[in-house]
Amino acid sequence: MNANVDPNANANADAQMVYCRACGRQIHVSAANCPGCGARQIAAGESERLLLPAFLLCIFFGYLGAHRFYAGKIGTGILMLLTVGGFGIWVVVDLILLLSGSFTDMEGKRLKRWL
Ligand SMILES: [Zn+2]
Repeated sequence: MNANVDPNANANADAQMVYCRACGRQIHVSAANCPGCGARQIAAGESERLLLPAFLLCIFFGYLGAHRFYAGKIGTGILMLLTVGGFGIWVVVDLILLLSGSFTDMEGKRLKRWL
């Protein structure tokens, strides 16, 4: 009998904990810095992916959807590839989104950091 085990409660508890990117120690998701090694942590809702490579890919290979592949958006990346960057319009829209910090990865997290 597992009457006392609430799978949802466990899932919620796990969702509050993340691993430090530097030392791998388990820390709370809201921690700005790791208590163990002091490394800066990625904020919730902020993508691990960086703006600079996405921006450069968009400028030089945006018509191939390269920046969308970088962001893990494979589906729209292929669509962009097939339409040659949405006939040039979609690439410009994505460039504006990147510059305004509104471009998101496949998890819906915004790309915020340039380096
Ligand atoms: Zn750490």
